Amino acid sequence: MSSFRRIDRPSPNHGPRAADARVELLILHYTGMPSAAHALDRLCDPASQVSAHYTVDEDGTVYAHVPEDRRAWHAGRSSWRGAGDVNGRSIGVEIVNPGHEFGYRPFPPVQMAAVAELCRGIVARHAIAPADVLGHSDVAPDRKEDPGELFDWPGLAAQGVGIWPTPSQADDGPVADADVAALLGRYGYDPAGPRALLAFQRHFHPGTLTGAADAGTVRSLRALLRLTGR
Ligand SMILES: [Zn+2]
Repeated sequence: MSSFRRIDRPSPNHGPRAADARVELLILHYTGMPSAAHALDRLCDPASQVSAHYTVDEDGTVYAHVPEDRRAWHAGRSSWRGAGDVNGRSIGVEIVNPGHEFGYRPFPPVQMAAVAELCRGIVARHAIAPADVLGHSDVAPDRKEDPGELFDWPGLAAQGVGIWPTPSQADDGPVADADVAALLGRYGYDPAGPRALLAFQRHFHPGTLTGAADAGTVRSLRALLRLTGR
């Protein structure tokens, strides 16, 4: 049973998954539009050619758009762990927030509680690994910034969704010795893009949005690789 209001708001924007496709990624977005109504209209408009499986409003209401066994159209050109077609192997969740373009603001606690509950169900149903719960910016770092540096990834990890790095002495080492692109690639990022490290910081080291490899960022990256065995 869901603790949050759930409303069916079907979108026509979806297609079949490949016969051998496995849902192995959970991609979180912000809507990036002035209001929830704008976002819901767009996600359900056949002309927009975009959708997601769910949208979570700021009051915790969950809108269901596309059945999980169908391929929704949320990630666009993107890749993770060396493979493309993120839409074909993911569930996409939109989280209402105006985003960097229309007045980026913190995600309310009740909204995050609804996101956590929805996502716990998704990762359990599809056996999605914690390291494969990602932001749109992780899989499309050169195009996207969502859900952004205000998103409460550590709080979500504390509720059993995704992973948050807790560096230890094992993760120390001179930054100069770190081949950061190689480490990013090992974790799953496409390291070729110029903004992969910035996307990493947005998700895992939001106090430092420089796109440059400082000691704290590299420690967090080493910690994630150690914790996940990647
Ligand atoms: Zn997005």
